Amino acid sequence: MDLRTRTSLFCGALALAIAVSILLRGRLRRAQILFAAFAADVGLWYLAQWLYLFVRADVWARFTAVLAVLLPQFGLHLFEAIVPSQKRPALLRVAGALLILMLILVLSPQQGEGWARGAVFLYVFGLLTAGLWSLLRRGNQSASRAVQRRVRFLVLIGALAAVFTLADFLWFIGAPLPPVGAVLSIVFLFVLSESMIRRRLVDLYDTLGQLLVSTALAFCLAGIFYVCVVLIGAFDTMYLAAILALIVILVLFEPLREKVDSYIHKAFFRERVDLERAVGKARTELVHTLQIEAMQQVVLSALEASHRVTGAALYLRDPVGDVFELGAAFGPTAPPRLDRASARPLVDRLEKWTSVVLEEVAAEASELREAGRASEAEADERVLAAAEVLGPFKKGVCLAVRSESRDVVGVMVIVDDRMQDAFSPDEVALLEALALQIGVVVENSRQYRRMQERDRLAALGQMAAGMAHEIKNPLGAIKGAAQLLSEPDTQSRLQASDREFLSIIVEEVDRLDRVVGAVLHYARPNPGEIGPVDVNAVIKRTLLLLASDHAAQGNFETDLEEGLPLARADAELLRQILINLVRNAVESAPSDSTVDISSRRRARADGGAWVEIAVRDRGPGIAPHVVKDLFVPFFTTKPKGTGLGLAISRRIVEDMAGLIEVSSQEGQGATFTVLLPVAEDPLLAPRFEAPRADPAASAGSGASAPSASEAEPAVPAGEPLTRPL
Ligand code: ADP
Repeated sequence: MDLRTRTSLFCGALALAIAVSILLRGRLRRAQILFAAFAADVGLWYLAQWLYLFVRADVWARFTAVLAVLLPQFGLHLFEAIVPSQKRPALLRVAGALLILMLILVLSPQQGEGWARGAVFLYVFGLLTAGLWSLLRRGNQSASRAVQRRVRFLVLIGALAAVFTLADFLWFIGAPLPPVGAVLSIVFLFVLSESMIRRRLVDLYDTLGQLLVSTALAFCLAGIFYVCVVLIGAFDTMYLAAILALIVILVLFEPLREKVDSYIHKAFFRERVDLERAVGKARTELVHTLQIEAMQQVVLSALEASHRVTGAALYLRDPVGDVFELGAAFGPTAPPRLDRASARPLVDRLEKWTSVVLEEVAAEASELREAGRASEAEADERVLAAAEVLGPFKKGVCLAVRSESRDVVGVMVIVDDRMQDAFSPDEVALLEALALQIGVVVENSRQYRRMQERDRLAALGQMAAGMAHEIKNPLGAIKGAAQLLSEPDTQSRLQASDREFLSIIVEEVDRLDRVVGAVLHYARPNPGEIGPVDVNAVIKRTLLLLASDHAAQGNFETDLEEGLPLARADAELLRQILINLVRNAVESAPSDSTVDISSRRRARADGGAWVEIAVRDRGPGIAPHVVKDLFVPFFTTKPKGTGLGLAISRRIVEDMAGLIEVSSQEGQGATFTVLLPVAEDPLLAPRFEAPRADPAASAGSGASAPSASEAEPAVPAGEPLTRPL
């Protein structure tokens, strides 16, 4: 068997394997079926040719001719399926008419004549060339740059395959050329099959890159081998020359591969190289960045300088307001904030996948609809509807910025509005790595701020302790004296106005004492005793306590999840938080409305779980400008408020490794949500509230229940003045 016969066998087998592989992979669309038919035709054509060369039976020559006649028919329909045209193209009609003529010709006795072969040859190459040309035209008219590029690339490989296959025919006239055309048509088939499998067309560039690198490398190494073995070594020293060649190859392989790789990438994938460089530079700079503003500057200027994207926006989650606030952006005008509630389907998907390429989601949604998988399509459509809030960025790539606990703390959106399908998976992976590092900076900067806050609080704590000592003792004396004067026998000697002044003194001393106690607590909080806590029991008990508190009289409705896991918390401190939240809710809600207290298990992005407690009122809600200051110490909108209740609650929750969230709609009330980590070992018995879980059993003991604030310096006279704020 000569080289040509063997190549036919080899290429035939490969083409059939490619056809089968496409049939085995995934759902079959029209284009894939046509491709399989096209590849099978090529494969059978080579095999028939091989059989003909091998056994020289005329039937195989005829069979080869029939397959050759069918080839442009499959090819034209396939090209049409890759980029469909508006109306049925004339080329298909012409091809249909020619098919009948050609079939008659190849089945007639004249089939073996030179002119008949020439006609078949012209028909095959003419139609395939026209098909490729019209594919190129349609591709160039496409709005998607990725489609344009893919088509150009396919046409280039197709044209090369055609030229070399033509060159193969020179063999008939005695030119000593190796059968390169056959090999190239297999390469063409392979590239085409890749384009069938990958919906993201730009992936082809990666395939092409690998193909080019390997081919260029093979040529370089073959060159070295040729120089060493043929030019330097004569036949008698062949063995030595081969060893020399291999040593040179081994030494040069790595540097050569790197060089070839970098040249080819620079020549063919300029934009990606630029993006890679920009992202790499930004990531190096981010290693030394601690401030959020500096991080935003580094990231956005790197992306802008890369010229690879036309717009980027970075949103960071406001831990308080449950919104993603725009940090920095360039390009089209980005919306100033993303409301977590309305963007939820998008954020949920980001929690799972890290990046969401919105154009891909749209394509997938319509494919799923076509395939009748409505519920999956609806999930995609919900993501797309949520992405509408992104305005000009709604067709971009969304990337999750995650905290250490894998929660989504930010969203980066990137667009390139010059084209569709703008980013290849490789580029998205690069951007994902950047988003990952942004998450690290966000986390570090928050930790740094916490450390600074801790230092500040340590100083404040020292001051507060001194102040508490200086103020609380005289306060106690003032209150004691005022109470002495209020005793019945003294009181009878006082005028009515004096009695009123006395009660004002006692009331204001109480208030001052509370403020001092709260400052002390805020600055040096009771660290509490963290352990497994039955949250439902704490809620029930707190409501019982509040029943005897005239300042927090309200209609409470509870919705407590049964079988709630134990939380990792301190029961006393948790009760203090609840009292603060419920009091605020009662104070802001109309007296006839209810305050809802609920508990449930909430899944976390990292697979773990929170125990969630929500306190919801039907008051006026919280104005957006108030929301951002809610947890700032001494911020209050109440005439007699201290503005420390929420600040303290947040400190306590964070010390217990939890979170506190607020959501509010003006006019419809506010919901404060406390998230506590689930106790690590759920088998441990709750040490705090569980044994007293039955509210009836604990009735009456509520008022005397120890409170965290009792640990503070107490005012000596009268009832304890401190209470949760
Ligand atoms: P204080 O209650 O002493 O003002 P807080 O820290 O408990 O201190 O609350 C700070 C501010 O937050 C309040 O003054 C009020 O404006 C606002 N706030 C807290 N809870 C609610 C709520 N449920 N509804 C409306 N506003 C609230």
